[in-house]
Amino acid sequence: MLAFGLFIIFIPNQKRNNMSTNKYPHLFSELDLGFTKLKNRVLMGSMHTNLEEEINGFQKLATFYGERARGGAGLIVTGGFAPNWEGWLKPFAGRMTNQGHVKKHKIVTDTVHQEGGKIALQILHAGRYAYHPLSVAPSRIQAPINPFKPRALTTWGVRRTINDFASSAALAREAGYDGVEIMGSEGYLINQFIVKHTNKRTDAYGGSYENRIKFPIEIIQKAREKVGKDFIIIYRLSMLDLIEDGSNWEEVVHLAKEIEKAGATIINTGIGWHEARIPTIATSVPRAAFAWVTQKLKSEISIPLCTSNRINMPDVAEQVIADGCADMISMARPFLADENWVKKAMAEKADEINTCIACNQACLDHTFSNKLSSCLVNPRACHETTLNYHPSNQKKKIAVVGAGPAGLTFAHIAAERGHTITLFDAESEIGGQFNMAKRIPGKEEFFETLRYMKKQLELNKVDVQLNKKVNADDLKGFDEVVIATGITPRTIQIEGIEHPKVLSYIDVLKNNATVGKRVAVIGAGGIGFDVSEFLTQAGESTTLNKAEWLREWGIDPENKARGGVAGIQQHIETPARQVTMFQRTDGKVGAKLGKTTGWIHRTTLKMKKVKMVAGVEYTKIDEEGLHYIDKNKTPQVLPCDNVVICAGQISQRALEQPLTELGIPFHIIGGAYEAGELDAKRAIDQAARLAAEV
Ligand code: FAD
Ligand code: NAP
Ligand code: SF4
Repeated sequence: MLAFGLFIIFIPNQKRNNMSTNKYPHLFSELDLGFTKLKNRVLMGSMHTNLEEEINGFQKLATFYGERARGGAGLIVTGGFAPNWEGWLKPFAGRMTNQGHVKKHKIVTDTVHQEGGKIALQILHAGRYAYHPLSVAPSRIQAPINPFKPRALTTWGVRRTINDFASSAALAREAGYDGVEIMGSEGYLINQFIVKHTNKRTDAYGGSYENRIKFPIEIIQKAREKVGKDFIIIYRLSMLDLIEDGSNWEEVVHLAKEIEKAGATIINTGIGWHEARIPTIATSVPRAAFAWVTQKLKSEISIPLCTSNRINMPDVAEQVIADGCADMISMARPFLADENWVKKAMAEKADEINTCIACNQACLDHTFSNKLSSCLVNPRACHETTLNYHPSNQKKKIAVVGAGPAGLTFAHIAAERGHTITLFDAESEIGGQFNMAKRIPGKEEFFETLRYMKKQLELNKVDVQLNKKVNADDLKGFDEVVIATGITPRTIQIEGIEHPKVLSYIDVLKNNATVGKRVAVIGAGGIGFDVSEFLTQAGESTTLNKAEWLREWGIDPENKARGGVAGIQQHIETPARQVTMFQRTDGKVGAKLGKTTGWIHRTTLKMKKVKMVAGVEYTKIDEEGLHYIDKNKTPQVLPCDNVVICAGQISQRALEQPLTELGIPFHIIGGAYEAGELDAKRAIDQAARLAAEV
């Protein structure tokens, strides 16, 4: 009893208040940095959105960050800004090098502060990853993912670059930032200095490990000298390079200690160089897959440590901190998906969070294609000044036919704006094709989107009518109709297409058809790849089993191997089936898959021994198997038990004609509007924009 009483007396007030009220006590306790406090342990990680380079981009960035500050993020880190023009990621990318930049950034920092937030500027020098011919690096060695060969910095150039980093930090302070993050990971310039493979210098910044890490240490020291003691300096440290000749663990620990001594306030976790061929943030990566790496460093240093990668829900974030893996968690993309992530978690409304499904389709794929970033599940992201869901002046009674991603999005946003919405679907559950997508190994996150949508329908009082296949007569009496009826799979003409061994992807993924051991897949689009992953998966999806996933990709869980991977064999379970995937087009199979994820799908299927055959002409399906003419014009036959057709989709708009005849006004969205190369990103975006206007 006495011990209990004393315990209560000695818990600091600030902690007790925070910890007693929330389901996530660790996540929502303050972090005292000595000269300042962060209100919680959630850091919004750095993302380049391409707003940085837009006309009036800083105004838009201010609104973007302002909403996230209002949503409760403890500390925001901006996208990367270069300390000089050589460090640009691409020509004319953002820099922090003069008073003009200071003035522009002030609007961002002022807005974030008005919203009660804190913000740090990320200083990033791209080194040999820079996409321009004037790039520099420790040595003249070209990156495998970049067409430009860098120039080696002279010793004077290295010192000038260190000063440039420090000057940028000082300018950031002038611009009102609360701190800076020095980008030392992901294979950018600082990382290139640290690792022998990219640093062949013979001066004071090359050779021994001690020499190679002088570059980041001097950057932190100089920056600290210039900004004073009461300014946050985060150092993003590459804790697991995931390249064969990366740092070993002893080197990582040594560097972390030196960075602490040099004056950093927080160390953030970096995992994997961009050129590494191991996925680090894609949807198939297990949640919090790399928190154990940060945890290993925890006992070695005394400043706060932040962990990152595939943390997207509050229970995961809380557990990571409760387990002692880190003091803070960094999430970037989850703040695109939901600006109010923190607010909702604090209110214990995690079921209302619009979860980042780690698809990369509207964020990283856009960034790397020079398009404005956004979010597949939240089209408002980075469009905050142009896409808003204001209350409607004219309330309407609207029927939405089809509860796939398009219909769901339209229904809840239009209802939120004040319209009366009835949502019909022929199936017994909402979700449309997402109910097939969520069954694919590695796409388990798609469940979350459906959970979010279902909650939004409830909150916005949408009348949901399932098991109701609607015809035009059912829609009389509505002011307007939204046709969101999706697609039907394309039927193809090949002799023997009626053979019992022929199945569609719907038979396999929805109707649980029995599939034999040897399978031919016709069509190598997104669905052909997904079906092949589904059919080859033996046992549980490794996305749900961290240890198995690390084994599968050849990552050393002991972290003794150099770079975390050197000499470690991948371990692949024998595939459940022998799958061969075909396409008629010659060239790379899966060429149209996502820019940042296509290689992961191709690699996964190669690991599962899926054969990919391009440039074919199909001739016949019979008892023997699939007959085709190969790209050398030679007839071939693939013996197989089943042929699964994944040959694309066509729009399902059977309601269009009868509604026209009845004179009922309608809109068509999603797959029903356009099936060719349609994906959920376009379907949701189109639905949200219509719902904002209707
Ligand atoms: P759908 O999802 O097709 O929904 C249409 C709905 O309308 C259905 O529920 C149907 O039952 C209902 N309906 C039709 N007619 C009627 C009627 N008369 N009355 C009542 N209800 C009706 N996209 C991505 O962007 N990324 C991915 O990773 C991805 N993976 C996928 C994986 C698989 C296996 C599949 C099959 C698809 C995947 N997609 C992916 C595609 C994505 O699911 C579609 O782009 C998206 O579902 C289209 O949304 P929609 O609302 O237009 O149509
Ligand atoms: P898709 O990407 O258009 O691919 C269709 C495939 O069928 C192509 O490989 C095409 O290759 C083949 N094909 C087309 N017409 C054919 C015909 N008449 N006979 C034989 N083969 C034919 O469509 P999908 O795979 O059905 O995917 C549907 C949508 O869902 C797409 O928009 C896709 O982006 C999206 N999706 C995305 C993902 C993702 O991970 N991002 C995953 C799944 C689905 P050839 O013409 O060369 O034969
Ligand atoms: Fe996450 Fe996909 Fe949105 Fe990017 S586009 S933030 S990965 S849900």
